[in-house]
Amino acid sequence: MKTEILRKYAELIARCGLNVQEGQEVMITADLDQPEFVTMCVEECYRAGAKKVIVDWVHQKVTKLHYENQSLETLSHLEKWQLERWQWQTEQLPCKLFIESDDPDGLAGIDQEKVSNARQKWFPLIKPYRDKMENRYSWCIAAVPGKAWAKKVFPELSEESAVEALWDAILKTSRALEGEPLENWKEHNADLKRRYDYLNALKLRSLHYESANGTNLTVGLIDGCNFLGGGETTMGGQFFNPNIPSEEIFTTPRAGEAEGIVYATKPLSYQGQLIENFWIRFEDGRAVEVGAEKNEALLRKMISMDDGAAKLGECALIPYDSPINNTGILFFNTLFDENASCHLALGHGFSNLLEGFENLTMEECYARGINDSMIHVDFMIGSSDLNITGTTSTGATVPIFRNGAWAF
Ligand code: ZN
Repeated sequence: MKTEILRKYAELIARCGLNVQEGQEVMITADLDQPEFVTMCVEECYRAGAKKVIVDWVHQKVTKLHYENQSLETLSHLEKWQLERWQWQTEQLPCKLFIESDDPDGLAGIDQEKVSNARQKWFPLIKPYRDKMENRYSWCIAAVPGKAWAKKVFPELSEESAVEALWDAILKTSRALEGEPLENWKEHNADLKRRYDYLNALKLRSLHYESANGTNLTVGLIDGCNFLGGGETTMGGQFFNPNIPSEEIFTTPRAGEAEGIVYATKPLSYQGQLIENFWIRFEDGRAVEVGAEKNEALLRKMISMDDGAAKLGECALIPYDSPINNTGILFFNTLFDENASCHLALGHGFSNLLEGFENLTMEECYARGINDSMIHVDFMIGSSDLNITGTTSTGATVPIFRNGAWAF
């Protein structure tokens, strides 16, 4: 890929994704396989005014070795310096950039039970820090094509051509291949805003999903909880774009209010393994029954990670005719696949969607119906015949989606 195009993509990530402000610190988590692009991101963060940029290099193959060789006790333990680093984050509130390039099934074969059990042990240790930081810092997830990932998406191409093809797909869907990326995003954000302003004015209380594949699900919404899309604003007033790309308009449903059954329309990559052809049945807001053709045990484990893991944390609306879906590519990566299709997420909800969230504690947000969990996992439910109907506070019904597309 041409250097000047990559440079603009890095600039987009620093200025529109994170929106780094003069004097801020930045933390970047990235795999070792893309040193050139990460270097460009570091440079662009400094150019945007960053005081200090820290890169946390990771490597999926090393991560796998850790899971295979460390005991559950060692995996569950956090050193004092690790907790101190979390404490530092709550004080400095660095912008956090996550650059994804992982092989979608690069962790296949590891002991999932051990990984999940370890997470259940270390998560409570970091939760107080995480709660303290929530909605106070800007963050962004963007992607670069790792070699194994590119081969998974384009198995018929040589490694080099596959990487180039995935770069093309990433940049095109991220609105960073043509024109001026920063301008493209200004327009895109304005477009999404027009739609969610309309949805927020409806004061919806529930959404009903229906599709010929068997999906028939009603999800309760929270009074005074908004729809949002594209950019978000921290409590300190910093506007940022957490996902590049992003096509969704989403809200957080009321934890404990979901009834019916929903069928996934794309495989789900979870902890480096694919869960395929699955469905989930909800009762009183909880996933009470699941089925999957592949990795059903992993799905079952996922919804039992903690109390909130069986409840919904997100309803996202994306037309079936989205730019990402129109590429015809299955990315095997949530950042892209979630933007190709209407989806739901199990787990943690978005407290910043509550009106007046700036003045609420996390406990108060949870009490209002925001789900609390250590997981937040999106799964795709969009189809070309999906209908979504909203019910307002006065009991009126409003078509939101008809045949997989916006009804307004
Ligand atoms: Zn989403």
